[in-house]
Amino acid sequence: MPVPLNQAIRVGAYVVRQHLAGRKRYPLVLMLEPLFRCNLACAGCGKIDYPDPILNQRLSVEDCLAAADECGAPVVAIAGGEPLLHKEMPQIVEGLLARGKFIYLCTNALLLEKKLDQYKPHKNFAWDVHLDGDRDMHDHSVSQGGVYDRAVAAIKAAKARGFRVCVNTTLFDTAEPARVAAFMDETVKLGLDGVMISPGYAYERAPDQQHFLNRRKSKELFREIFRRGQGRGWKFNQSALFLDFLAGNQRYLCTPWGKPTRNVFGWQRPCYLLGEGYAKTFTELMETTDWDQYGTGNYEKCADCMVHSGYEATAVMDAVRNPLKHMRIALRGPRTEGAMAPDISLANQRPADYVFNRHVQERMAQLHAKPEPVDAAD
Ligand code: SF4
Repeated sequence: MPVPLNQAIRVGAYVVRQHLAGRKRYPLVLMLEPLFRCNLACAGCGKIDYPDPILNQRLSVEDCLAAADECGAPVVAIAGGEPLLHKEMPQIVEGLLARGKFIYLCTNALLLEKKLDQYKPHKNFAWDVHLDGDRDMHDHSVSQGGVYDRAVAAIKAAKARGFRVCVNTTLFDTAEPARVAAFMDETVKLGLDGVMISPGYAYERAPDQQHFLNRRKSKELFREIFRRGQGRGWKFNQSALFLDFLAGNQRYLCTPWGKPTRNVFGWQRPCYLLGEGYAKTFTELMETTDWDQYGTGNYEKCADCMVHSGYEATAVMDAVRNPLKHMRIALRGPRTEGAMAPDISLANQRPADYVFNRHVQERMAQLHAKPEPVDAAD
């Protein structure tokens, strides 16, 4: 089982408790973005297109721990930007572990070998290295040569020191199933603890807008990949039902509150991928966001989204409600033949609202009015 047993049990028990308490909406994974600054400029990234004063902002250790306390999700994914540029990242990780959180520290791994000494292996802590396929696929995806080799060297160094290491893989319409399958074999050889795989989300600020997958193509691609996976020992760090959804067999609605995002703007509405507004507190986010405005079928920007930020939580909640279905699919793997589940109609979706520039202007005005302390990257 790729998700560690203690994590699966704790998260399952947490979900059951939320159901018993009658909570309609609750978080599973806190997406913590302590900074937007990165040391790469990937073509498919929509997170780094901010003016320098915003890229220089950091969430403090206290901000990060307060966000975890406020939100209460059992799992924390630390993303960005590049989290290893944050000088206080070891303290943030320590504080989250002391709170019993399961942590995935997402990184492009360029600084990983240099920083490994600052961290200790822990059963609840995993490096989550960005790796979008084999050497050519990944270096093309991050728009820089040599990054794949450095990431793989860092993965080997981290594994040698006893860390859990997963990879996070985003696929675009250039992905070839046979090459992705060979890459998955490589992750087995590297002894990785799991792969989190998703189709890329078409961020409106991503420099390359040409190569994002639509839903139909995503499902066909994942069927082609999973078909090749029988008996090859691939480990996915995702629920079996989410993989079945990627293969077109589950008709899921988005659960954006399942992975709420806290970043330097505040609590982001509605999800990790879309910044349509910001709340000051987690409670405000949950209570004042008009959730029905978002998700595939409701909003044009969500039309092609099949990303774990929105749909993994739906799959986990489905697994808790329907354990036999989950067990059946976990045992046999995603179905790769036959009719797909009907997709959600886009007939009534509202048009896209382009708000990025307004948020940047508002934030810049705040920074000019009251300069915040800046923690420069090291
Ligand atoms: S479908 Fe859900 S996760 Fe995807 S962009 Fe829309 S709100 Fe976010």
